[in-house]
Amino acid sequence: MQTVCKLCRQPKALVNSHSIPDSLFRQIFKAGSGQAVVLVGDDVTPNVLSQDSWSDYLLCGDCERFLNEAYDEWGLRLLRGKIGQLHRSESGVTFHNLDINRFRKWILSLMWRISISGHKSYSNVNFPREIEDHLRSVILNQLPMCRFDYPMVITRLRTPQPVPGFSESDTRTIQAAPFARQYPVARSVCFVMIGFFVEVFFESFPKTYRKKPQVLTGNNSAVFCLYQSPFDIKEFSETLGQALAKESGGRNGPA
Ligand SMILES: [Zn+2]
Repeated sequence: MQTVCKLCRQPKALVNSHSIPDSLFRQIFKAGSGQAVVLVGDDVTPNVLSQDSWSDYLLCGDCERFLNEAYDEWGLRLLRGKIGQLHRSESGVTFHNLDINRFRKWILSLMWRISISGHKSYSNVNFPREIEDHLRSVILNQLPMCRFDYPMVITRLRTPQPVPGFSESDTRTIQAAPFARQYPVARSVCFVMIGFFVEVFFESFPKTYRKKPQVLTGNNSAVFCLYQSPFDIKEFSETLGQALAKESGGRNGPA
């Protein structure tokens, strides 16, 4: 397939790119029997067991390799506790000794790929064109970012007590389509990967979040991820409840 790469904008053969890194799906597929449970937000559709890793033809091979090497491999090793220093407390997990700006750019590179992707699972999320363009040049040219650009909140999904039919390891296999939130004076984009819930704000930032320790900006020296129950995320709670009801009713769909 020969067309224009979305990152370098050169006419090149495109490869099948994964906005949420493929290795996240490989982990899900390994954990289950090669399939992920996809949450579907109504009480009629069975939970779909999916082998679709939400890929799309977006980037040339060079750019795909660049994103993998500069960001994805590093970010995934970090979240899995393989690099940096991971500290667990009563309230959450903290990643110390890491390059904060590299981390912020990794998250933004995922958001950018979600925004430009034509895959139907990413259709809820489309940044305004000027933000897509800005993110593209930050990622491609490794430009410095302002400290308060795109503040983000990352939580570690964990239920405070056992939920029947839902195990702790299930939080790592939640695969939900990214979605947008609208606040009175701000907007955000949210997505989940390997048990972390990520919310990135753009254009403005809600006042209620301003002093919270879990808000990540370029001022932080560590990434603090508060524990949050997936059932407390309003966009998930209804769907998760329906998914559990469907599982107990034996209505998991075929692959
Ligand atoms: Zn390219």
